[in-house]
Amino acid sequence: MQQRDKLYINGQWVAPSGPKTIDVINASTEEVMATIPEGDEKDADAAVAAARAAFDSWSALPPATRGDCLARIKEGLKARSEELAQVISGEVGMPLKLSAAIQVGSPIANFGYYAKLAREFTWEEVTGNSRIVREPVGVVACITPWNYPLHQIAAKVAAALAAGCTVVLKPSEVAPLNAFVLAEVIDAAGLPPGVFNLVTGTGPVIGEALVRHPEVDMVSFTGSTRAGKRISEVAAAGVKRVALELGGKSAAVILDDADLAAAVKGTVNACFLNSGQTCSAHTRMLVPESRYAEAAKLAAEAAQKFTVGDPFGGSAKLGPLISEAQRERVRGYIRTGMEEGAELLCGGPDAPADLPKGYYVKPTIFGRVRPDSTIAQEEIFGPVLSIITYRDEEEAVRIANGTPYGLAGGVWAGSDERAQKVARRLRTGQVDINGGAYNLFAPFGGYKQSGHGREMGVHGLEEFLETKSLQFRP
Ligand code: NAD
Repeated sequence: MQQRDKLYINGQWVAPSGPKTIDVINASTEEVMATIPEGDEKDADAAVAAARAAFDSWSALPPATRGDCLARIKEGLKARSEELAQVISGEVGMPLKLSAAIQVGSPIANFGYYAKLAREFTWEEVTGNSRIVREPVGVVACITPWNYPLHQIAAKVAAALAAGCTVVLKPSEVAPLNAFVLAEVIDAAGLPPGVFNLVTGTGPVIGEALVRHPEVDMVSFTGSTRAGKRISEVAAAGVKRVALELGGKSAAVILDDADLAAAVKGTVNACFLNSGQTCSAHTRMLVPESRYAEAAKLAAEAAQKFTVGDPFGGSAKLGPLISEAQRERVRGYIRTGMEEGAELLCGGPDAPADLPKGYYVKPTIFGRVRPDSTIAQEEIFGPVLSIITYRDEEEAVRIANGTPYGLAGGVWAGSDERAQKVARRLRTGQVDINGGAYNLFAPFGGYKQSGHGREMGVHGLEEFLETKSLQFRP
């Protein structure tokens, strides 16, 4: 078992203010794989003070110099990529090969992207008698979830550092070990002390202490809509800037002229990735009433390919869920779906056979789900897909938009043109057209209760910038 007993503050590994610790559990063995400090308000104060003290000199550096620092972090992560994939597969449960490609590949790419953008971004421009200057917002608290832990950290930290902000990171207490590796990499990359700080602990204690802190200028949060609402309330007292990447209940709209086999397969994949623990998962599959029987059959067949098992075992496509609490929550939703009268096409609430340990759930698909039922409205965050039928395109759009969320979605049609027309009517931040792939450098974020602000790409950098206008005599 690994002991992570220090926090990274002001360029040093320091003991936390109190003795409390949190166990980090391996999702497939249920064993404690490490303990981390359960930090408190005093630790938050120390980290914010360090970030504040470092801000003036870091923000005054030429952006290209900050870019060089980010490039060194990228190289450091690359050098430790195998170890990071092991760590993340342990704490999150994602199969190792997928972890290496997605969980580790994307943060490396992100640090590389922002290293380059720092050099190329237009930091100043002239409009009439004004010079418009982009300046960093200040000290940023980054609070992140567990499902793609290092990806979500990198999306914030790389962009904030490129912008010239200094950072206090509070990663998820459920999957925090990758953040310790990142802090070691940042330390070895030689960033000035205080530019990046890592504290750990629970959301309501050290998380809220950061959100409340008068010296924190901005909170960049990814996580549940419930916690996002609370963070908005607390931050409002200090009129802080808040960026929120929250939950989702995304729909894949399959139109009547779509290639049904490709559309169903694509949607099942987009739902079950990371055992359904993806904020942008396509958890509702909307099909024309006339094609329901065919779609249900194809979906159940596609689910068979999602073998459940040990993330380190080599052949499994679906690992366990992150925790016992999450597994029980998901099983509860499956039972609710059955009680509410949806057709169980495959899976179910029982534990998969031959897996006595680990938080496994069978890939589950419900057919004939009512659009207003619990499983079609609430974010389940597990491998559960709901098939919903519609009569015409108007109704499909209405159902797709008919939840409090607005994060992502997909449209499948006989042509990209037709799909795009419908995609433009969806009230979500991103839509995949006929199986279009996720683009790491395109803006990512939500409408409605999926949050506000955008991460990734140029938009992700701009989130961390203020705009100043210097007016000259005309
Ligand atoms: P969570 O909201 O429970 O926790 C996220 C982080 O917030 C953790 O670090 C937690 O400690 C902290 N936190 C919790 N309450 C807090 C409070 N009152 N003040 C300050 N910090 C607090 O979410 P989770 O269970 O870790 O992650 C799953 C959720 O994240 C899902 O709802 C998912 O959709 C969402 N998510 C969204 C995106 C996106 O980009 N939109 C990406 C990934 C996950």
